[in-house]
Amino acid sequence: MQELHDAPLAPLTTFRLGGPAARLVMARTDDEVIAAVREADGSGTPLLIVGGGSNLVIGDGGFDGTALRIATQGFRLDGTKLELAAGEVWTDAVARTVEAGLAGIECLAGIPGSAGATPIQNVGAYGQEVSSTITEVDAYDRRTGERVTLTDADCAFSYRHSRFKEDPHRYVVLRVRFELEDAGGLSAPIKYPETARALGVEAGERVSAAVARETVLALRAGKGMVLDPEDHDTWSAGSFFTNPILDEAQFAAFLARVHATLGPDTAPPAFPAGEGLTKTSAAWLIDRAGFTKGYGEGPARISTKHTLALTNRGRATTEDLLALAREVVAGVHDAFGVTLVNEPVTVNCAL
Ligand SMILES: Cc1cc2nc3c(=O)[nH]c(=O)nc-3n(C[C@H](O)[C@H](O)[C@H](O)COP(=O)(O)OP(=O)(O)OC[C@H]3O[C@@H](n4cnc5c(N)ncnc54)[C@H](O)[C@@H]3O)c2cc1C
Repeated sequence: MQELHDAPLAPLTTFRLGGPAARLVMARTDDEVIAAVREADGSGTPLLIVGGGSNLVIGDGGFDGTALRIATQGFRLDGTKLELAAGEVWTDAVARTVEAGLAGIECLAGIPGSAGATPIQNVGAYGQEVSSTITEVDAYDRRTGERVTLTDADCAFSYRHSRFKEDPHRYVVLRVRFELEDAGGLSAPIKYPETARALGVEAGERVSAAVARETVLALRAGKGMVLDPEDHDTWSAGSFFTNPILDEAQFAAFLARVHATLGPDTAPPAFPAGEGLTKTSAAWLIDRAGFTKGYGEGPARISTKHTLALTNRGRATTEDLLALAREVVAGVHDAFGVTLVNEPVTVNCAL
């Protein structure tokens, strides 16, 4: 197992932000992952699991404990059953399933990071979420010290949430299993209106899975949502805020604020999100509160391609990023009475 001391964490994150870890361990097998976790837990050392670092905001002070980089490998496809080791690069795994003619995760192409992190926040984009295809997750349970298998029901998936996010220090994901669909090379039914428009089909139709993947990648690239080291608009964690879900009273109060501020004819985005709940768009709120693309004067700014991505223009600190995030949260709250919640995980720092 590779081990470094006082190791910079910023290069392991897509923001390229944050101070060093007292100790950084790289684990290449499930046994190495488990051994490293047991060692940290046995000695009472704080533990930070790092996959691709694409959803992490690490404080400028770094992490005073063991950072465990999951670098395990394993891609096994048996018919429509897929098993991925936690360290597999997600977007490469998606490409391989599409090459094999399978459907179910083709619209999740281009999402950075590791396979093992996908169940943590129930990764989703362009009408698909991993919760629709995950059947089981193998994990190390730090509470019992055992290797366990959780079914999709055990994972308690919801919008950008799961049991793993609910209880963040309990499970270390080792393997994820998926049930994909063999639709003769066709995609799953296209659900997302923007993707359907770009493909020139009606929502609910199927297209070639390869074409669906390429279309999503092109849409994402136009928004700075595919990693490109040369493009500071992608030095981000993707969407920095989740879309707010409002109950009936909150939605009524929100609508009243929108009408008072922007006029009675303004209709904010509103999507059903379960019994009595409405999801609105964080990007819309941010934009209408005056934080448009490219907003900011300092080294942390809103992406020039997507209102929802906060970015490091190259010389930012985590504090610069958090100052911008706080400004956006306060501005949206002042304008619409809605409190935005950050999507990336904050380590040794807070909004
Ligand atoms: C340009 C860009 C675009 C993005 N687009 C999307 C998108 O469309 N949809 C979306 O949902 N997300 C998106 N994201 C966010 C991010 O890519 C996903 O959340 C991704 O799954 C994070 O994976 P990771 O391996 O980088 O996790 P990390 O950032 O390394 O970790 C994230 C969290 O998961 C924990 N973790 C990681 N691996 C494990 C493991 N094996 N076991 C237990 N805990 C673990 C970490 O401790 C941390 O709490 C985007 C990010 C970027 C930079």
